[in-house]
Amino acid sequence: MSNSASSDCLFCRIVAGDIPANRVYEDEFCIGFPDINPQAPTHLLIIPKQHIASTAKSDAKDAALLGSLMSAAAEIARSENLSKGYRIVVNTGDDGGQTVNHLHLHLLGGRHMTWPPG
Ligand code: AMP
Ligand code: ZN
Repeated sequence: MSNSASSDCLFCRIVAGDIPANRVYEDEFCIGFPDINPQAPTHLLIIPKQHIASTAKSDAKDAALLGSLMSAAAEIARSENLSKGYRIVVNTGDDGGQTVNHLHLHLLGGRHMTWPPG
């Protein structure tokens, strides 16, 4: 998928408000909302409002936006009281297990994480 917003893109539709999501976080660049299929007691997704398909489709001009996603994740983790730690995951492409082709950070917390991931 290209980097232009698409009515075919699930997460662009959430950004547009066509599909409801409980926005636990929102700023100029991104939103955060619960994953519909949580893998931990806290499992939130942080996505850019702008459509970027994946990290593989990002480039240097996206550096500030990518930084703002990480910064938002850290702020959300504080507001969710994940003081014992958490994991930020960015699945990319088929081998990375990406299923929604709109770049997103998973913020997982509230339980101990194992390594290596599956
Ligand atoms: P990934 O597999 O890394 O591409 O992650 C996509 C995530 O989106 C999965 O964890 C899904 O559970 C989640 N997801 C799919 N549809 C929705 C939705 N409508 N609202 C919230 N999360 C969703
Ligand atoms: Zn999109």
